[in-house]
Amino acid sequence: MDTGVPECLFCKIVSKQLNAKIIYEDHLLMAIEDINPVAPVHVLIIPREHIGSLNAVNEDQLHILGHIQVAASRIADQLGIAANGYRLVNNCGEWGGQTIYHLHYHLIGGVKLGWPPL
Ligand code: 5GP
Ligand code: ZN
Repeated sequence: MDTGVPECLFCKIVSKQLNAKIIYEDHLLMAIEDINPVAPVHVLIIPREHIGSLNAVNEDQLHILGHIQVAASRIADQLGIAANGYRLVNNCGEWGGQTIYHLHYHLIGGVKLGWPPL
């Protein structure tokens, strides 16, 4: 079994070497509860394949990004936040607030969110 990048936390989670509360999974991704939620619903959507950040996505991986967005809407519906609305966020790089360098999207909802982020 491919266990990804050995030192990567999210590779360990998607290969189940580390535990997480799994909300949904399929052949391309895993969706888990964030360990430090910032809202009533805070799910991390993580591709199984190790991709360092949005900056590292290549043309062969476009289907993964599309799959993540459609899965996010399905998960939002499943969790009962689709009708009121929610946010799907990718933090890219240091200034974007990325702390784990395995691509992931935050699905955040269950409360009315503020904007802008500054
Ligand atoms: P980033 O800052 O890279 O966009 O997001 C990383 C997210 O991963 C943070 O929201 C953080 O709370 C979450 N996180 C960090 N370590 C763990 C962990 O071990 N398990 C889970 N489920 N989430 C984690
Ligand atoms: Zn990884």
